[in-house]
Amino acid sequence: MINGLTMDDCPLTLTAVVERAETFHHGRSVVSRRPDGDIVRTTLGACAHRARRLATALASLGVEAGDRVATLLWNQAEHLELYFAVPTMGAVIHTLNPRLHPDDLGAIAADADDKVLVVDDSLLGVLAGFHDAHAFRHIIVVGGTGDTPAGARDYEELIASAEPMRWPVLDERRAAAMCYTSGTTGRPKGVVYSHRALVLHSLVAALPDQLEVSARDTVLPVVPMFHANAWGLPYAAALTGAALVLPGPRLDPVSVLDLLAGERVTMTAGVPTVWMGMLAALDAEPWRWDLDGLERLIVGGAAVPRSMLEGFDRHGLQVIQAWGMTETAPIGSVCRLPEELDEATPDERYEFRGRQGIAAPFVDIRARGDDGRLIAWDDRAMGELEVRGPWVAASYHRRGSDEASFTADGWFRTGDIVRIDPRGCIRICDRAKDLVKSGGEWISSVDLENHLMAHPAVAQAAVIAVPDDRWGERPLAAIALHEGTTASPDELREHLTQEFAKWQLPDRFEFMATIPTTATGKFQKTALRERFTRGV
Ligand code: AMP
Repeated sequence: MINGLTMDDCPLTLTAVVERAETFHHGRSVVSRRPDGDIVRTTLGACAHRARRLATALASLGVEAGDRVATLLWNQAEHLELYFAVPTMGAVIHTLNPRLHPDDLGAIAADADDKVLVVDDSLLGVLAGFHDAHAFRHIIVVGGTGDTPAGARDYEELIASAEPMRWPVLDERRAAAMCYTSGTTGRPKGVVYSHRALVLHSLVAALPDQLEVSARDTVLPVVPMFHANAWGLPYAAALTGAALVLPGPRLDPVSVLDLLAGERVTMTAGVPTVWMGMLAALDAEPWRWDLDGLERLIVGGAAVPRSMLEGFDRHGLQVIQAWGMTETAPIGSVCRLPEELDEATPDERYEFRGRQGIAAPFVDIRARGDDGRLIAWDDRAMGELEVRGPWVAASYHRRGSDEASFTADGWFRTGDIVRIDPRGCIRICDRAKDLVKSGGEWISSVDLENHLMAHPAVAQAAVIAVPDDRWGERPLAAIALHEGTTASPDELREHLTQEFAKWQLPDRFEFMATIPTTATGKFQKTALRERFTRGV
């Protein structure tokens, strides 16, 4: 028996990732496109070095170990500097999603108790919407040119005024980052990532059969840095030395295609909505962009339709589907075609590539049927997917491990209904959670319903997701009015604008005498889906 320490017990912290970028990959480029379209060029080394100064400046403003530093930024070099500086100084980077309703943003900032906010000048209008809901101790503006809030600091001045920090030694279980995800009801829930989780996630993301990030890559994350850590790509790039192209707010197909071609990008990642638009642009003008260097498009966040796989194949571009969640940091599974299917028929290959893939290393999966038993991996039985692993959440910030989200033995309940084939490859067939995913962002059906039913004319409201070519899904509201009352769709939409962002409002309202219910009195959404998604 061998006792005692056998190997150096050095902590798995992001410090090692940031220092690696600084020491070995300092010359690798980081290209950002500003909101006005200007291209700004820097390097991983410069970002890492500026991160040291930024950390000192933040410390001088009173940021201490464990404090939350919020960001309201696009995919841009300054965001990367904060990804480097904040966790490495021992604080927690909290990425805010500017697309959320101001009430949600205010509630999230308060729930996270953010001490400092770093905001891009172009997002000051968003900040104005929730500024009163939470008192940030300091506001720091990036690229400030116009009206800045009273007392706000300038990002560049802060960096210029500070000396580089010597990184402290951290415990790998310390919180490094946090991100909120929409719940079925109520306010979004906070997920806190440890250093260890993000380091292991970066390592695995870089593996050949996962996202395959290497020093030879130029990576363009279309997926925002405020959504699940941009799928881990910034840290994976820092670790491996991949160059980064950060596209800012302009994510229309032509702008993205221009960057992909102009910067010779080798891999990119985002939700299906982005790629559907890109495919249409490519089909319309196939010769306009030289995408010879583009080896793979990682697509996830919503199901990848076969037409998208076929469409990009037509242009010689490989789409790889991945599945994950904010709660899984986010990579849960990746779908890479196994060798034995190399010679399979196109149908068989598309059938496989349309799946969400095989669990990433260290991620355990199982699925539970309606009867409470685990399902067989026979590709027929269906059940709710449960996961666990070193980068899977064990609780929500301030909410703990509630029963609806975690099993008694500590697995996370995903709310995704799957079949699992004998290889262990999952296919998502349905969603147990009452949510609509539109363009990669969530809309709570239950919150819409509750608010609709608060309208004096509405007796019953049930909201379902209907498929949409552009956005993946859009909300449809089935409404039963009280007898003798009237309410037009415009009036109901207006009623909802108090609580919901414009893009969250139902596109369609269907009026019915009563809404069908199940034996237990719940709205029978399957019947509604059947009726309205077929357009009957
Ligand atoms: P989020 O936490 O916002 O990233 O959303 C995670 C959820 O998005 C998952 O639980 C799924 O419902 C959905 N999702 C993510 N990736 C896929 C995929 N490849 N196919 C189908 N649904 C997906």
